[in-house]
Amino acid sequence: MSNSRTITADTVIIGGGVAALWTANVLKQSGQSIVVLTNSPLGAGQSLAAQGVIHGGLKYAVGGKLTESSEALAGMPGRWLDAIKGIGPVDLSGASLLSDHQLMWSLPNVVSQVVSFFGSKALRGRSGGVPRDQYPEVFDTDAYQGKLFRIEEPVVDPVGVIRELARGVEKDTWQIDWDRNARLDVKDGEIAAVEITEESGKPVRLEAGHFLLAAGSGNSQLLKTVGISRPEMQLRPLHQLIIRQRNLPPFYSVCVGTGPKPPLVSTTHIDSKGRTVWYIGGDIAEQNGVARSEAEQIEAGKELFARLMPWIDLSEAEWFTWRGDRAEPLTGTGDRPSGAFCERVGNVLVAWPTKLALAPDLADQLLRETGGSRVGGTVSLDLPKPELGKAPWELA
Ligand SMILES: Cc1cc2nc3c(=O)[nH]c(=O)nc-3n(C[C@H](O)[C@H](O)[C@H](O)COP(=O)(O)OP(=O)(O)OC[C@H]3O[C@@H](n4cnc5c(N)ncnc54)[C@H](O)[C@@H]3O)c2cc1C
Repeated sequence: MSNSRTITADTVIIGGGVAALWTANVLKQSGQSIVVLTNSPLGAGQSLAAQGVIHGGLKYAVGGKLTESSEALAGMPGRWLDAIKGIGPVDLSGASLLSDHQLMWSLPNVVSQVVSFFGSKALRGRSGGVPRDQYPEVFDTDAYQGKLFRIEEPVVDPVGVIRELARGVEKDTWQIDWDRNARLDVKDGEIAAVEITEESGKPVRLEAGHFLLAAGSGNSQLLKTVGISRPEMQLRPLHQLIIRQRNLPPFYSVCVGTGPKPPLVSTTHIDSKGRTVWYIGGDIAEQNGVARSEAEQIEAGKELFARLMPWIDLSEAEWFTWRGDRAEPLTGTGDRPSGAFCERVGNVLVAWPTKLALAPDLADQLLRETGGSRVGGTVSLDLPKPELGKAPWELA
């Protein structure tokens, strides 16, 4: 680009979900100059579609032992609760904590397995049985014959989280269009600069010490453009259920069945018109659910609720589904990687948090990798600002 103005930042972050935005807040607070570039509304990939469960690893430990995956997650609820209180580098005090815990409930045939697991010392106070006289509305019926456990895994509102993270780096975030006003200048498998055409038509060359690819499923194309063959990405699809009905009771839960995955994971959200939504993931949203059409998935959801929770009246409910992919580093087994992932290739850092919950862990790794501030200050670009994306129940 001839006659272009050159701007230098410490770290250019490409992405606009929880990974990019949480990391941007942490790097900025450390004194780095940062630039966040997104090609879509913020959170529009996976982050706004997340159920918002801040796993502490218990779901992955139900098999009986605390796995590598559950250990990586163990510190995350505390980190998020601090952020919600406004403690630490990331201020989420404007975002809602939807619930400070989840319920774990069981199908009648697995009660003994669950009771022995939750009675075990391994849980170190992360869970406890709920006495019958304290059952919440959704299970307060003689028709429920299983046991209820409280697990100390909070549920956050992903919309509020992305909004507040975006607010913290609003001045440093811009929307780009790779076909219209931005291009990667690649040299020897590294990124030399992002070449930008500002709204006024002026060319800008944006250089940086590090370029972070934190674009979820968009990382695959970015890696191709830079010519990086490893790490590779995997996509794991989901087909979530959305049940909308006025006055549904709060329902934040993991159901334990006989298989390795919970048949159902539920969270509760209020949409922009004040209507209650149950958002359902778990095994029903995985492989078999992905293979189903929307109508078949809704039918399967109705059957599941009629079987597991026949006391719940969903006769007035509107049912929808949401399809999307979880984007992660390739594991080779098709399973979920055990922790937040970050790998350096020259001046390029490739990152996938693998869970919303692990965003703080990812940002810690990236702060270490980018090694403190060299340039500092702020960068100014004449480019449009991105909007906030919409949650699946707003699209339904
Ligand atoms: C249905 C569902 C439920 C989930 N529930 C939970 C849960 O309860 N708890 C949990 O911990 N995790 C959950 N997850 C996982 C979690 O949502 C993801 O791990 C996390 O949101 C990934 O964040 P990300 O920032 O890497 O990607 P994304 O959220 O996908 O963000 C990527 C963003 O990058 C930008 N972008 C994309 N391509 C480009 C490009 N080429 N150039 C510039 N910008 C680009 C866009 O703004 C896009 O929004 C769930 C995932 C799904 C799909």
